[in-house]
Amino acid sequence: MQRKLQEKEIPASQNIMATILKSIPKEACLTKIEYEGPRIALYTSSPRYLLEHNEKISSLVNIIKKRIVIRTDESIRKPEAEARKIITECVPEEAKLQGTLFDTAYGEISIEAKRPWLLQRNAKEFNHADVTEKTGWKIRIRKATTIPSRTIQTINSTLKQSSGDRNKQLKDIGDEIFRPRLTQKSEVSLFTLGGFGQVGRSSMLLSTPESKILVDCGINPGAKTPMDAYPRLDSLNITLDDLDAVVIGHAHLDHTGFLPVLCKYGYKGPIYCTEPTLPMMNLIQLDAIKVATAQGRAPIYSERDVKQIMKQAITLPYGTVTDISPDIKLVLANAGHILGSALCHFHIGNGDHNFVYSGDLKFGKSILFEAASWNFPRVETLLIESTYGLKEDIQPSRQEVESSFINAVNNTLADGGKVLIPIPAVGRAQEIMMVIDHYMKSGEMVEAPVFTEGMISEASAIHESFPEYLAKELKQKILETDDNPFDSEYFTNIEHADAREEPLREDSPCIILATSGMLEGGPVLEYFKNIAPDSKNKVLFVSYQVNGTLGRRVLDGSKQVSMLGKEGKVEVVTINCGVEKLDGFSGHSDYNQLMSFVQRLRPKLRRVLVNHGERKKSENLAMNIRRMYRVPAHYPQVQEAIKLF
Ligand SMILES: [Zn+2]
Repeated sequence: MQRKLQEKEIPASQNIMATILKSIPKEACLTKIEYEGPRIALYTSSPRYLLEHNEKISSLVNIIKKRIVIRTDESIRKPEAEARKIITECVPEEAKLQGTLFDTAYGEISIEAKRPWLLQRNAKEFNHADVTEKTGWKIRIRKATTIPSRTIQTINSTLKQSSGDRNKQLKDIGDEIFRPRLTQKSEVSLFTLGGFGQVGRSSMLLSTPESKILVDCGINPGAKTPMDAYPRLDSLNITLDDLDAVVIGHAHLDHTGFLPVLCKYGYKGPIYCTEPTLPMMNLIQLDAIKVATAQGRAPIYSERDVKQIMKQAITLPYGTVTDISPDIKLVLANAGHILGSALCHFHIGNGDHNFVYSGDLKFGKSILFEAASWNFPRVETLLIESTYGLKEDIQPSRQEVESSFINAVNNTLADGGKVLIPIPAVGRAQEIMMVIDHYMKSGEMVEAPVFTEGMISEASAIHESFPEYLAKELKQKILETDDNPFDSEYFTNIEHADAREEPLREDSPCIILATSGMLEGGPVLEYFKNIAPDSKNKVLFVSYQVNGTLGRRVLDGSKQVSMLGKEGKVEVVTINCGVEKLDGFSGHSDYNQLMSFVQRLRPKLRRVLVNHGERKKSENLAMNIRRMYRVPAHYPQVQEAIKLF
């Protein structure tokens, strides 16, 4: 929201600055205090004092209730080559330094090491304050991945090239967030734009007298007409300039597929998401362009629009309270669904209303992720998904599904056969890889080589880059030991089609994970042609097979299928191999998990809204929440306006 400051108002920012100057002693050598998007950056020419007196910053944050970051003054930052040399000298050899990455907008060096635990804050051999003092740059320690992620490399270089513009943009965003409020009156409305009474095109607008926040911006890949494919932004009667911020819960296309179009048509404001969500959505959005082109459809946005998102994104860690407008604070919390997926907690007005949007939710632990967080101090309205909203939507427990998986794989490998797992590249593939590594190492699964092909290795590299977002034990393994499952010797990635000889060699049992998950295109098809005719082998599905796909036909027992071969010739493939499907690896909560999530929040709830489900599923979940927990619950449709407070 753009407006001119009236003279008689005392800018809120002036009070904040005065408090900061009063609380921080001279020894800290502050040179500049500046907005950096939703944070306040304190620049210092002598960083050691503030780095060693963290308690000063904590008590200041308690008083002003704003996020603070420490930045080094540009004047003390050594040139990159010199700083790099100092780092190389300071990092102990055993830590295995792999690279250094300079973020000029933030004055921060990311130090990538194979053994990052030797460089953590409490490490004996490596003192953060010393290194910061010597280089003049703040440092951040990161785990170097087995294979570097190309997506993350592109993001880093894009951000570096645009660091000047980004600094200015962050300052402007800060001016808007920290401007005085127009009114102390709190009102909150929710406008449903997509993903209500349906799965797909999730999007909604949260509106108060001060701010307009767009939450999620997806497409509906299964839609028949454009009117059903995209969020109904047209029904709002606002322009893109009226939006204060966009908040993205997680990277899947049904939550982010329309975001590049927003940038294409001139949205310039901040896009908030977790750190891994940025590369994840980048990978998925670019893949959607490729898929559309391969299917002869015109993509709705270009690579340039996807790149623009990187420049406007402001990433937030889980659990940090962040001002995103004069009257809304946002906290992102683990949703357990995919890497970086977040529940969005909006604290509106002076805590007058607290709204939680579940996004896609897994309220159950997996090898990759912890169960979704539920411990919010206050929640009056909950908006919860209902993908599995019917009473019969019950999945087997993780333990059960993992043991069925082990059996299914072991039987085939023991017979000398190959197991082909058609799999979506992002999320499910990494889950299955972790399960395989875990049980092969424990001796419960027959040891065999595991081959991956498609976008899987890139998605895995992104997972490995953000161990802080993974389940506790997995995170510990990656960050604190040499036993990193992503670097497991069982896995081999197939980079080119000519390298398929090894996985396809006769009489050598193995597991092959290849995209796509429903046998609709991708490298999995070539493997399928080879593997299906031999009765020793098995095709094992671990994800949902949509009606009309080749995957579904195979699962339904077809004995022969026609496929397009090289140069457009039709090939008939006879299926003699075993075919099996396992339920329970879903990233969504089943009916029981949805209900127990609501039950956990119940003492604080005044109302529940249900979305992201077929109509009858949303209806059933709302009805049972009313009946069991005596909390008002309903399921809005698309294009409704709901007054929350
Ligand atoms: Zn999702």
